[in-house]
Amino acid sequence: MMELVVATRNPGKLKEICRLLEAKNVKILTLDGFPEIPEVEEDGATFAANAVKKAETIARATGLPCLADDSGLVVAALQGRPGVHSARFAGVEADDRANNCKLLDEMALVPEQQRQAAFCCVMALSLPGQPTRLFEGKVEGLILTQGQGDGGFGYDPLFWLPAFNCTMAELPVDIKNRISHRGQALRQVVEYLCVSQF
Ligand code: IMP
Repeated sequence: MMELVVATRNPGKLKEICRLLEAKNVKILTLDGFPEIPEVEEDGATFAANAVKKAETIARATGLPCLADDSGLVVAALQGRPGVHSARFAGVEADDRANNCKLLDEMALVPEQQRQAAFCCVMALSLPGQPTRLFEGKVEGLILTQGQGDGGFGYDPLFWLPAFNCTMAELPVDIKNRISHRGQALRQVVEYLCVSQF
């Protein structure tokens, strides 16, 4: 059975990854099992750079295959921001509420037809002795002028999905997991692991 270190301390992400990899003959190890590994700083200019840095650092430190991801919100009218700075858009100590307020402030003058945005996720899979592989997912939507719904996290209440006629925060969690940027990237990882020889 293949062992895979999943480089996240987010219990929600971990649960989703375990669910998709269960019965695929992959044993998931978490960072809790490696307390000696320091936090990897996400200081890259792109989602891919951050995901690769995390996956390769942890694979090197553990000697085991590692899966890492980075994700965020990309807003066209803000030239791609907050992007890799999504978690700390309103400052290092910022919470979801502060980040959402800053997003609304910055977009106060942006008209309805120019409020396109996307949630993007890049997953990096680092396997010993092999080049790191990248898997990407993206979901497109529009930024509302006020929040709607209280599910999900982050920018979900402001992210309108025209195809579902609701915000990401109003989607049932199983549907969010199916259509989300993270879900899309993760399913590609699962497919890759299933067809590869490990
Ligand atoms: P990370 O990939 O956990 O570092 O996510 C970075 C940030 O992007 C989060 O703190 C959120 O602000 C935002 N983000 C990423 N994915 C989602 C999502 O599915 N919904 C809402 N916000 C998200």
